[in-house]
Amino acid sequence: IQEPKEEKPVAEKITVGHVHMSGCTGCLVSFADNYEGLLTILDKYADLVYCLTLADVRHIPEMDVALVEGSVCIQDHLAVEEIIETRKNAKIVVALGACACYGNITRFCRGGQQNQPQHESYLPIGDLIDVDVYIPGCAPTPQQIRNVCVMAYLLLKGNDEQKALAGA
Ligand code: SF4
Repeated sequence: IQEPKEEKPVAEKITVGHVHMSGCTGCLVSFADNYEGLLTILDKYADLVYCLTLADVRHIPEMDVALVEGSVCIQDHLAVEEIIETRKNAKIVVALGACACYGNITRFCRGGQQNQPQHESYLPIGDLIDVDVYIPGCAPTPQQIRNVCVMAYLLLKGNDEQKALAGA
């Protein structure tokens, strides 16, 4: 029987949430496509505290980093409230993917229940709230998303040298 390895104290992790606006979930799939990298992120750097795909909870909790996928359908008042609540409750807001950054191709409000074909009905999140980081791409690569999570960890939890490296 091997003796258990000495447990190293786990450094305090940042909290991350995935906020789903009018997007196709492709950005979330790209985040999950980090495979082992995702496990490393969740093991060492971040706790996932909010994800509508995993739990149908509408209230946006306080978190360090909000990864916002999708554009905002302005006919969906709940979505508008949620993006404003996200800004209030997140230290760093990331526009994840081309829909969140530019509006992109989305044509349906969440769930497809309000089909609004006019492109003007969908706004990039930066038109409604201040955004700290933009990750364009449809979808962004898993590595890009992973790098942003690690960068946020260094900014929020790192020592002075790490914060400087991360651009604080
Ligand atoms: Fe889907 Fe692309 Fe929009 Fe992400 S950026 S939600 S992958 S259409």
